[in-house]
Amino acid sequence: MKEQTTTASPMRVQFLGTGGAEGVPVVQCECDHCRRAREEGGRLRRRRSAVYLRLPHYNLLVGAPPEVREYVHNYRITELQGVVALNNEFAHIGGIKEFEYWQPASLDFLSVPALFRQIRREYWTERLRRVFYVLPLYPNTPMYLGPEFQIWAMTLSSQPATFGLMVQMDHRKIAFLGQAPVERLPRLALQHLRGADAVVVGLPARAPEEDIQQRLQHLHQWGQDLNVGQVVLSHVGHQAPPHDTLEALAAEVAPSVHIAYDGLELAL
Ligand SMILES: [Zn+2]
Repeated sequence: MKEQTTTASPMRVQFLGTGGAEGVPVVQCECDHCRRAREEGGRLRRRRSAVYLRLPHYNLLVGAPPEVREYVHNYRITELQGVVALNNEFAHIGGIKEFEYWQPASLDFLSVPALFRQIRREYWTERLRRVFYVLPLYPNTPMYLGPEFQIWAMTLSSQPATFGLMVQMDHRKIAFLGQAPVERLPRLALQHLRGADAVVVGLPARAPEEDIQQRLQHLHQWGQDLNVGQVVLSHVGHQAPPHDTLEALAAEVAPSVHIAYDGLELAL
């Protein structure tokens, strides 16, 4: 897997958090995963999911979870042009008010219009209105962010309306599917995913270890069928096995599946 950051790579992707809505460890949970995460830390800890995309002259934060302030400081995010919101749940957008004090006070806010109406109702403030320039991301329609790169929101299901994100630059593509099940995607989404360099998928919350093994094998085969370079597993809940177990399982049964961890960087 291409984990190294190089200046020659025009597209860089950093996973700021890779956990589910509850994170790992979960408050007051004494399961083995949470207990180990508390004691050993490192890649066993997973904060809520968000991704930092570095593109030529335009850096984007995908998601604004409640930890967003911590992410901005810890990962030293100083160059930011926009925030993409494809989910209106607290775990994905609950930190948006932190941007009330962003300096310089000018950022793009990209979201699907129907979703933005909900976000505006629940989270928007007068200060945010002054900081953000709200831009509509029309589903399945590329938005050009520069001469050679574009992003778009892919419809992943209609009921409830869920969206993934595709980022394309020259001939390189990375897709983020959130927690959408890969076996129930619309034909159009599959068409867009075909030949992608990387597809980031989630892991269902509850699954015993033997099911996880099958799941990894399935994801590997699914990626191979679509000619995907690598399938990256993120959004890992605390009921899933810990990072080291997942990594060992994937190495054994699903060589094209990679397990994301907080801080992982990909250069595409
Ligand atoms: Zn737990």
